[in-house]
Amino acid sequence: MKSMNYVTPFVLCTPPCGSDKDCARCEIKPCADATRIHDAVRLIQAGARATLVCQLTDLPKKLVKRIYIMLQGHPSPRGQMPFTDAWYLENDLRMLHATLVWQLHNRIARKNRSEARIVLDVYAVYQCIVDKPQLDLTRAVFVLSLMAMDLWQQRHCQYCGNAFLAPADEKHDIACPGCRLYHRYRCYRCGNAFDAHAMGRPRTVCSHCMDSKVSNANSSKRGRR
Ligand SMILES: [Zn+2]
Ligand SMILES: [Zn+2]
Ligand SMILES: [Zn+2]
Repeated sequence: MKSMNYVTPFVLCTPPCGSDKDCARCEIKPCADATRIHDAVRLIQAGARATLVCQLTDLPKKLVKRIYIMLQGHPSPRGQMPFTDAWYLENDLRMLHATLVWQLHNRIARKNRSEARIVLDVYAVYQCIVDKPQLDLTRAVFVLSLMAMDLWQQRHCQYCGNAFLAPADEKHDIACPGCRLYHRYRCYRCGNAFDAHAMGRPRTVCSHCMDSKVSNANSSKRGRR
């Protein structure tokens, strides 16, 4: 993955008109324009492509492309946003981070705040609280889209009770990605660690409780790693 640029939250920024609110929809047009351009600059610096910046700021594509070249020295890469959730589902850690991004969004998003600023703030906090961000800005935004489109749903883990995200049509997910990671080498029933020599290979039988049942949560149809 490419190196990610760190984003500073907007908390201390004042809009040009001097008000204390988000001015992307300010009645004073130059203030609204300045705010949107400022947001576009921040988004590009955080790794967003021109298409995503247009989508989040409502600025004209031509202008965004020009700002992109001025900042990065080359045109915005072609190509679109991600279209499927396959990339996230390949890996439990990515799903864990996707859940985190969604939870941060629920806590941070406020009415009257522009989409661009919500995304920037969520992404800034996400980068602050994880050691190694798994999701770049585009992937983080796509998590919010998947939830908005009802392609993913929030569920509650049957092991730890925490909320997690899963595809709406995948009803077999009963363990959160955190528990799946934790139980890769530990028995679902008693929590006992599997023998060291069994590491690297998914185990279903625990020598401690002799649980020979294959746990639903431990058997992954997608072969998560
Ligand atoms: Zn204003
Ligand atoms: Zn769990
Ligand atoms: Zn056991």
